[in-house]
Amino acid sequence: MAAVAESCPQPEDPIVVKKQQSPDMTIRSESTAETSVDAASANHSTEDFNPFMNAAISSALAGVHQEHGGPFGACIVKNGVIVACSHNMVPTNLDPTCHAEMNCIRQACKALSTHDLSCCELYTTCEPCPMCWGAANWARLRKIHIGCTRQTAAKYGFDDEFFYQELDLPHDKRAIKHMKGIMSDQVRKVFEESHTYKKRLRSGGGILAKIYQQMFLDDDSITPSDDGKGQGMTCTDEWMQAAIEVALEGQRKGESKEREPFGAIVVKDGVIVGRGYNTVLRDDDPTATAEVNAIRAACKVENSYKLVDHELYTTTEPDPMSLGAIYWARLNAIHIGVSQKLAAAFGHPDGLLHYKELETDFKERAIESEWNVMADGCENVFKSWKKLQGILY
Ligand SMILES: [Zn+2]
Repeated sequence: MAAVAESCPQPEDPIVVKKQQSPDMTIRSESTAETSVDAASANHSTEDFNPFMNAAISSALAGVHQEHGGPFGACIVKNGVIVACSHNMVPTNLDPTCHAEMNCIRQACKALSTHDLSCCELYTTCEPCPMCWGAANWARLRKIHIGCTRQTAAKYGFDDEFFYQELDLPHDKRAIKHMKGIMSDQVRKVFEESHTYKKRLRSGGGILAKIYQQMFLDDDSITPSDDGKGQGMTCTDEWMQAAIEVALEGQRKGESKEREPFGAIVVKDGVIVGRGYNTVLRDDDPTATAEVNAIRAACKVENSYKLVDHELYTTTEPDPMSLGAIYWARLNAIHIGVSQKLAAAFGHPDGLLHYKELETDFKERAIESEWNVMADGCENVFKSWKKLQGILY
């Protein structure tokens, strides 16, 4: 998933940055949160000036002073050169996905004309939320350098911890209602007829097919019952049919990497206000999933970064990045066709792998991470924001 391309040249160490010790990242509970902050303090690296993190901090401060959004900044570096630098622009752009890291990933991809940033590293003033870590996975970033932790952000009212806690909960316990198994047979049919699936490993036989079988198919998770068939059937099937049609349109146009059959729509008061299919290839934008595109389109129509009282219909369970976008957009409910496990079985395992990445200890993740880089300087951005009476958006 996030493997670095072998041909990708290593940076020539233009600047030696002292390697920081990762904090103990068992930080999913209240009690461990404090431990993590303590670890951050113990390992803080104020004395170790890092020019790239400094650029991220400068952008964050610029955003705070211009009242662009929350006190977060990021930059992306390739071979010792900054190729993108941005800060939070959610309220300014009226777009709930415009976190500093997402902006940077989009900018860097535009600058380098690619959706693959496996030669690049991300510097971010604060621990990425699940949406942004998922985006880093989609972009295949090599490494993430992090300033302060989500616990530091929480001290100033930015509690991304909530989103991490939501990910740990089963679907039926989450704050946003998940209605599963909507027209799952029809959505499955779209996957079955996908050309990508036909050329995938599973149909090739041999050892790879066997491994694939073990990874994704020796699992009853793709049976209709586990897909939640029968649950949440109070919504109208017509909306899911509309999402399927969007997915088929996307597949026909071939604007995604592999003609993935993913489609999503946003509905309010019986009217579709946004629709989207995967356009990663067309836009050179690894964040351009069906759900993110549908949400951004709906926000344009509604002229707001909040989609309260809106509901999203998606052919497939959202990946972590798209789920993060759904949470940040404050959608009321998600109606899901089939699970990520089913998508994986049909040759699209990324979403499932991204969930596994977030469940995995930081030291074992596909993307390497460095913590507490100029942590005090990064926390100072929050202090400036507070001093200027910045508002929680
Ligand atoms: Zn984020």
